[in-house]
Amino acid sequence: MLTIKDKTFVPFITQATLENRITQLAEQINQDYKDREPLLVVVLNGAFIFAAELMKQLTIACRVTFIRVSSYHQTASTGVIREILGLHEPLEGQDLILIEDIVDTGLTLQRVCRQLGDRQPASIAVATLLFKPDALQADLSPDYVGFSIENRFVVGYGLDYDGFGRNTKEVFVLQE
Ligand code: 5GP
Repeated sequence: MLTIKDKTFVPFITQATLENRITQLAEQINQDYKDREPLLVVVLNGAFIFAAELMKQLTIACRVTFIRVSSYHQTASTGVIREILGLHEPLEGQDLILIEDIVDTGLTLQRVCRQLGDRQPASIAVATLLFKPDALQADLSPDYVGFSIENRFVVGYGLDYDGFGRNTKEVFVLQE
């Protein structure tokens, strides 16, 4: 059990299950990108542990960079625009693999994909540790999914509750 502030979380996905599944995802990516040199684009903060575990098991030539989607947003005619911070590399002609902790509504990812897409990469794929298909509102689906889960709030293994709880070896779920 894990208590963070006023909330109690219970074990949900064990360390061994996480590690086995990430190994499978890495094998799949090694196959799919065997003749390419993808740039992994890690969405901070939550994806850092997943990204590290995944990248350790990639045997292809690859690079990594880190971005943050600012919580500051402006309203424009197109709706909310969230700025991508930290992406300084040229992306033209690059194969990108976006690394996410969790895809919930998918709206964040959709915006990130659109903004990256404007910079003419060769391709964009999405790898996410967790996916909540029932919450999805965006017109996209991740290419590499660790676990599809029900629509419940999870923490651990990089994911936080109010900034805390990222530092665990397993994923916990909010006790109902
Ligand atoms: P989306 O735009 O897909 O709705 O939101 C994605 C972001 O919301 C994730 O990167 C994560 O920061 C946060 N998020 C969504 N669901 C959860 C959850 O169950 N637990 C935690 N800790 N964060 C979540």
